[in-house]
Amino acid sequence: MPAVKQAVQQEADLKGKLKEVFGYGQFRGTQEAIIQNVIEGKNTFVIMPTGAGKSLCYQLPALVLPGTAIVISPLIALMKNQVDQLNAFGVNAAFLNSTLSKAETNRVKKDVISGEIRLLYVAPESLTKDETIDFLNKATISFVAIDEAHCISEWGHDFRPEYRKIRGIIDNLGTNVPIIALTATATPKVQLDIQKNLQMDDASVFKTSFNRTNLYYEVRPKHNTKKSLIQYVKQHKGKAGIVYCLSRKKVEEIAELLKVNDVRALPYHAGLDPHVRMANQDAFLNEDADVIVATIAFGMGIDKPDVRFVVHYDTPKSIEGYYQETGRGGRDGLEGNCLMFYSYDDIVKLEKFNKDKPVTERDNGKLLLQEMANYADSAVCRRRQLLHYFGEVFDKDCGFCDNCRHPKERFEAKEEVLLALKAVVQTEDRFGLDHIGTVLMGMKNAHVESYGHNKLPVYGQGKDHDAAFWYSLLRQALLNGFLQKDIESFGVVKISAKGLDFIENPHSIKLTKDHNYEQEVQEEEEKEEVQQAAGHDETLFEMLKSLRKKMAKEKNLPPYVLFQDPSLKEMATTFPTKMDELAHVGGVGQGKASKFGTSFLNMIKKYVEDNDIETASDVVVKSAVNKSKIKIYIIQQIDKKMDLEEIANSKGLDMRELMEEIEHICYSGTKLNLDYYINNVLDDERQEEIYDYFMQSNTDNIAVALKELGTDDYTEEDLRLMRIKFLSEVAN
Ligand SMILES: [Zn+2]
Repeated sequence: MPAVKQAVQQEADLKGKLKEVFGYGQFRGTQEAIIQNVIEGKNTFVIMPTGAGKSLCYQLPALVLPGTAIVISPLIALMKNQVDQLNAFGVNAAFLNSTLSKAETNRVKKDVISGEIRLLYVAPESLTKDETIDFLNKATISFVAIDEAHCISEWGHDFRPEYRKIRGIIDNLGTNVPIIALTATATPKVQLDIQKNLQMDDASVFKTSFNRTNLYYEVRPKHNTKKSLIQYVKQHKGKAGIVYCLSRKKVEEIAELLKVNDVRALPYHAGLDPHVRMANQDAFLNEDADVIVATIAFGMGIDKPDVRFVVHYDTPKSIEGYYQETGRGGRDGLEGNCLMFYSYDDIVKLEKFNKDKPVTERDNGKLLLQEMANYADSAVCRRRQLLHYFGEVFDKDCGFCDNCRHPKERFEAKEEVLLALKAVVQTEDRFGLDHIGTVLMGMKNAHVESYGHNKLPVYGQGKDHDAAFWYSLLRQALLNGFLQKDIESFGVVKISAKGLDFIENPHSIKLTKDHNYEQEVQEEEEKEEVQQAAGHDETLFEMLKSLRKKMAKEKNLPPYVLFQDPSLKEMATTFPTKMDELAHVGGVGQGKASKFGTSFLNMIKKYVEDNDIETASDVVVKSAVNKSKIKIYIIQQIDKKMDLEEIANSKGLDMRELMEEIEHICYSGTKLNLDYYINNVLDDERQEEIYDYFMQSNTDNIAVALKELGTDDYTEEDLRLMRIKFLSEVAN
């Protein structure tokens, strides 16, 4: 058959197979070219973002070629998932791993040797066993696919040492077994490392763009994070979303917080009972829950096309992880919102987690975190940054991220860029950003002096700006292609042709300064304070005050026992009209709300109606921590009349901390009887004196009480104990 005709024939066959087995009428993107390459027995390297149809690139050739394809995959759960899916398509696929019984293992091996099994999934660990190698030597192997190939690279975010042995193992399988390596995440550095390690420099590389045009990227500083999260989730009411947290404990806490705020949310993490975990995952997939709160364990191998938002409640460990997790949003090409809460404290915390790792891994982890912080801090288009990170050129702003939507003021940076580029040239393309900044600022350290960089013409010429300025500017020079990263030596930057051209012909260039989140948060807080100061409705506040006065008189109690001023102000700000809303006002609680609240609620309701005020109950964050375990424990022990010191000891608290917990319980409206304890430390007469004081005072402030009653006779603890007794008896 003439070659052209043969090619046409083969093309038709592949399409036929695609339709027949997988039910698709068309290939997507570069799939067909990749498959062709594998079938021709060439080494193939595929870099394709999540959801673009990566698995098909080795599944289809396995059906066409004689023999069995070996698929190396890092996760047992993922293997089973894929094998199940293939079996459902009628494809004979199996896996070999530690979950199989001896008999099952033998059957799989027999079927591979007889050539019945088209795809065999194995973990890299099982491949290192002699018996596995012996068995594979008896089989006909069509090719080896290495999934999640970024695990090979220690420069990546998911390094697995056993992955570095794969090349040696493949060499044992006979001559010229073709390889296809696939990953959804690889920086140019990682890409090079994978190819080197697998000795496949000759491979055809297929790289699909990482640009997910329908995803909106946004970063917010961690400030009022819980409130911000609830508002965000409510803005997307009824839509599917994932909230990622770093710890299991945080997952539980946030899932609970969302639940009490009327969001259909469920937790997912590795510490849950497997049945519960599966049930929660299914509930999310079947739309019985809207939001899944999860550790990053969630999402691998999950294919839900209509996830509308992905929130990182904690700052992720790497851009790779962040990109993969956000990639689970909007897989159907429709709406996908990605919000990350950022705090430098998170970066510091994550760095501490790394401290027990081997040196290379630790240093690499630190660099990945630095990139994460850079991304968050930068006011440059998020998409440009992400794509640049994955080695793609994208030389315009996207218009569809927070930094594009709310641009920071730009400044003319022609002179500074020129200076920075000259510094890179004069230090001979051999240093990282920090060092170049140091030279520009004219600072001395051993490094600078040993290289004689204090004698360079650029030395000290940038002393009008600080280190943060130069760091940010140099990164923007990278983004703009004036500089490039040296792939061979990590952290080093080099001048590019475009950079040299700029030095020859400098032109106007506008850059932005990084975000200063600390300042942004401070400004926001000040604004909130001003709003709060003037924020409450003065008329209603005065009305509530006189109601309090009247009721206190009737009940023969000091007014503050009913509600204190800050609580009334909050009522005049948030306008609670239902009992449970009132109970969530600071300093009120369930007990006080039901005991004194009715008249206040009626007054607020009438006022709201008369004045046509919109209540802001949807902005009120209901707290899930009211009845935390420790508080329940304390209430139970006090009921059993356990000694307070003993309670404190058993929970590792000091007395002061315990008192604070008890006060918190009391102020949220729970009646506590501490008489058994108080009677031991204070005689009746002294108890009476303090009690009377609180009855007549205008405030329950302890410092004021101490001054009034005298520190000679009473300790602060005495007064605090009596205040609890007093409030429990008259207020709760
Ligand atoms: Zn943008």
